[in-house]
Amino acid sequence: MANVLIFSEQDTGAFELLSKARELGTPAIAALGKTNVGGYFEYGAQQVFVGEDARLSEFNADGYADALAQIADASGATIVLIGSTKRGKELAGRLAQKLGCGAVMDAIGLAMQDGKIVAQRYALGGNTIATDVITSARQVIAVMPKTFEAVKQPVSGETVRVELKLREPRVKIVERKAKPAATANVEGAETLIVVGKGFAKQEDLGLAEALAHALNGEIGCTRALAADYHWLGEERMIGISGKKCKPRLMVSLGVSGQIQHTVGILGSKLIVAINKDKGAPIFKIADYGIVGDLYQVVPRLAERLRR
Ligand SMILES: Cc1cc2nc3c(=O)[nH]c(=O)nc-3n(C[C@H](O)[C@H](O)[C@H](O)COP(=O)(O)OP(=O)(O)OC[C@H]3O[C@@H](n4cnc5c(N)ncnc54)[C@H](O)[C@@H]3O)c2cc1C
Repeated sequence: MANVLIFSEQDTGAFELLSKARELGTPAIAALGKTNVGGYFEYGAQQVFVGEDARLSEFNADGYADALAQIADASGATIVLIGSTKRGKELAGRLAQKLGCGAVMDAIGLAMQDGKIVAQRYALGGNTIATDVITSARQVIAVMPKTFEAVKQPVSGETVRVELKLREPRVKIVERKAKPAATANVEGAETLIVVGKGFAKQEDLGLAEALAHALNGEIGCTRALAADYHWLGEERMIGISGKKCKPRLMVSLGVSGQIQHTVGILGSKLIVAINKDKGAPIFKIADYGIVGDLYQVVPRLAERLRR
């Protein structure tokens, strides 16, 4: 019997969780509204529980939580891991309520201790790491995307169809409005140029764009530039309230390096920081640093790289 049940709306998230769950117990996947489930066996899923119902064709937290609770019962899972996306967090809370157990959100580390999962998560605005153990018999944990690496370990698992008994949704969607398509994928970028408040005006971001062009990189930013100034879209914001990134190369321009930001870049392979303040905390985590005015340094760097 599988004791760790995984659900993620995105397959990449499910693969990451499967890779970690192999260390914690016997992993299984809850596949809702999906027919092509073979990929999960590549990452070590011993069982894939398929729940099909027209009411699951689109995400709704209430219906999905109901379906997951039924699959958790059918699978005998004591631990449920969910991708900690916006939807995943809503789902995790509702599922825990249905299973009568505790839940932890935004976990950044998991370990097994005396048959219970010990989960780590940032607390106090990212200044400390809290370690939580859920004491109820079952545990629901929402894990931040990109926390674990997806590593293949193919098995010949079993597909199990679960007869779901779902009630009609209590929430009706009356209108949908398209959101402007996200123009950036900072999470998947191999090279990332991250801009901060060291830029005095929005027009000056052209300097960073020239550098990004020369390095074939993507632009990311600190919270102020997205959430306060609205110079860039929130899909580019990196940190505890934004995206977590693991680029091979990250070049940070005019970013001080506060913990709430740097938790989003700690997985970077190589960090280069340019900041005019030699005491800026970003230099503590940078592999290479240039103490200087970005308005002087960046154009010269971009020109040299372009050549
Ligand atoms: C609960 C909470 C959640 C948060 N979540 C996030 C988050 O997810 N992401 C995030 O980014 N922040 C987040 N923050 C905000 C965070 O604490 C910092 O305030 C923010 O990251 C700072 O952004 P910054 O580095 O762009 O600006 P600043 O801290 O103002 O730093 C600007 C830097 O630019 C340098 N500089 C200025 N001019 C130049 C120049 N000409 N050349 C070179 N360098 C120059 C300065 O020396 C300075 O170091 C959060 C805060 C809280 C309380």
